[in-house]
Amino acid sequence: MPELPEVETTRRGIAPHLEGQRVSRVIVRDRRLRWPIPEDLDVRLSGQKIVIVERRAKYLLIQAEVGTLISHLGMSGNLRLVEAGLPALKHEHVDIELESGLALRYTDPRRFGAMLWSLDPHNHELLVRLGPEPLTDLFDGLRLFELSRGRSMAVKPFIMDNAVVVGVGNIYATEALFAAGIDPRREAKSISKARYIKLAVEIKRILAAAIERGGTTLRDFIGGDGQPGYFQQELFAYGRGEEPCKVCGTTMREVKLGQRASVYCPKCQK
Ligand SMILES: [Zn+2]
Repeated sequence: MPELPEVETTRRGIAPHLEGQRVSRVIVRDRRLRWPIPEDLDVRLSGQKIVIVERRAKYLLIQAEVGTLISHLGMSGNLRLVEAGLPALKHEHVDIELESGLALRYTDPRRFGAMLWSLDPHNHELLVRLGPEPLTDLFDGLRLFELSRGRSMAVKPFIMDNAVVVGVGNIYATEALFAAGIDPRREAKSISKARYIKLAVEIKRILAAAIERGGTTLRDFIGGDGQPGYFQQELFAYGRGEEPCKVCGTTMREVKLGQRASVYCPKCQK
């Protein structure tokens, strides 16, 4: 599943080919994504220049002169640039053709992604209640500490809550808790301010490193398969249940927290 670093890598890969370009037409082969693609998308977008491609949480905001295309990659979606008119294969549901002769092609085998149109994207119902971006100053350990007071839920689902901070998926939550030495089962309210400050620093460090690694795959967005570098990061905890801890050698344990597999080292994480 594309996580925040893959979505940011996608944004960086496609933005230079879209910004300043005029859309010549939009071809929708299958509207049935998580929500139906608006029937008038071609009418609304064609003839408009794309001003900027932004990201909010895991949503890409392709902003035209009037209105914004909100795109989400869902479980299996990807966006890449192809020559306009290139015959589409199965699952290649949308082409946004540009005057440059390229087309932004959306592929999504499982169709859990989204392509929606909005005149006010930041106030769209999908975006309006999202917490701060993890790599901005609006997110820090103090925010985690304050929001966690009185919360008896486990710390791992707490940091994965989009209202607390966006973009901390299972991989990054697992890895950040390992790096901060915090047991993912601990009650959110039981963790000190100093430990939350450490945790926020690790969340930022790990996400930033993943985005940096994704940067090495940017050339794949034109002509390639549009798949940014998933799982290229060295993983200390995620997916390593029953394996020896890379730091102390203790057998890593796996538990379910908020329906998600959570691996931790019983010695390194308290
Ligand atoms: Zn360990």
